[in-house]
Amino acid sequence: MLTAMLNRRELLATLVSGALMGAETKPNIVMIYADDLGYGDLGCYGNPTIRTPHLDKMAAEGMRWTQFYSTSPLCSPSRAALMTGRYPVRCGISKVLFPYSTGGLKAGETTVADALKGVGYATAIVGKWHLGHKGEYLPTRHGFDSYFGIPYSNDMSPATSRSPRKSEYPPTPLMRNETVAEQEPDQSTLTGRYTEEATGFIRASARAKKPFFLYFAHTFPHWPLAASAKFKGKSKRGLFGDAVEELDWSVGEVLRAVKEAGVEGNTLVMFSSDNGPAMPLREEGGTAGQLSGWKSQNWEGGQREPFIARWPGRIKAGQVSHAFGCTMDILPTCAKLAGARAPVGRELDGADLGPALFQGDESREALFFYYGDVTVRAVRKGPWKLWVTDPKAGFAQKPARTATPLLFHLEHDPSERFNVAEKQPEVVRELTALVDRHVAQVKIGELQE
Ligand code: MG
Repeated sequence: MLTAMLNRRELLATLVSGALMGAETKPNIVMIYADDLGYGDLGCYGNPTIRTPHLDKMAAEGMRWTQFYSTSPLCSPSRAALMTGRYPVRCGISKVLFPYSTGGLKAGETTVADALKGVGYATAIVGKWHLGHKGEYLPTRHGFDSYFGIPYSNDMSPATSRSPRKSEYPPTPLMRNETVAEQEPDQSTLTGRYTEEATGFIRASARAKKPFFLYFAHTFPHWPLAASAKFKGKSKRGLFGDAVEELDWSVGEVLRAVKEAGVEGNTLVMFSSDNGPAMPLREEGGTAGQLSGWKSQNWEGGQREPFIARWPGRIKAGQVSHAFGCTMDILPTCAKLAGARAPVGRELDGADLGPALFQGDESREALFFYYGDVTVRAVRKGPWKLWVTDPKAGFAQKPARTATPLLFHLEHDPSERFNVAEKQPEVVRELTALVDRHVAQVKIGELQE
């Protein structure tokens, strides 16, 4: 009897200490996501003009990636992939949502926030959601405890939009959870107000000793550009540079909040962008550096993005990783770190970034399908990228397979200038077969628009 009681006590003690240990070791996760920031827009990615000291320092103290992809070259599908770990066509979000859209991310989808909330995390999103702005699609219905931000792009107002349907648009809503808190906010205040919200959440969660997940999705440097008085006119790259420099300041504030809250050693902070630069906007858009193309295109410049990860003590400082990674990897990576279950009954397309982040392992072979709307336009396997459709086809078109595919060796030719398809017929055949298999397997979800 006594033995049995002791055993029970011991068992209880073990369970309690295990639970405490679990709580202590669950890392905090911060995902910062810029909008329309190109591969070449940061100092640490070679921009000669724009000053980004905080992101440069974050990279110097952590790991900067050279082959990290956003899963789509446009806002909504890119965010669907980030949140679900899946190709966005699977949930039907293959194109951009507008204020007149009635669809969004459906209730059956599992987001990063759902997965982490399920294992005790405090969850918040600050900034741009863009996965549906009607009740059931809002972030507060997708695992986030709180929301503060504009639910779609900042150019979707009757005042700024260039859409022929802009008369149907309501004034730009700034939302607090599920309510419109303000209409047509002064956009030059957004980065500052978002940052205050984000750092407040970090401090409050740390005080409550609760593991937290913060998804900080900036409005900028998406057009129309704005910067606060402290940054406006200060960069050497016009208002675009001002907006990026303010965003960089914001990253510094987030890192400062993490440090001051005493959780720096237990917090993974990641930074990336939803798609490449809006280069046709000229001085109002960014640059993809040596990569070809821009936002809405499947050239590398439309989808290859800066990716910086910092976690003192876990990620060795000062690394540049050439590993392959993409935004669909964020959910599996976060779920693994948090000890959360991966979504049940769902095909996940991403993989855990842990080996690359924590062990510097670059052995994972790249395998990635580039979509324009619902059509696979190109595939990457290892160093090879094969275009199976004409690159000139616009995002919303459904181009047929081209008779003359383009093949590039991305490690030798990241700018996609030298087509080697004729010299490598075996590679063309192998990658074409990969596209066929992928297309046959992926079930396209009900279109959300
Ligand atoms: Mg974007």
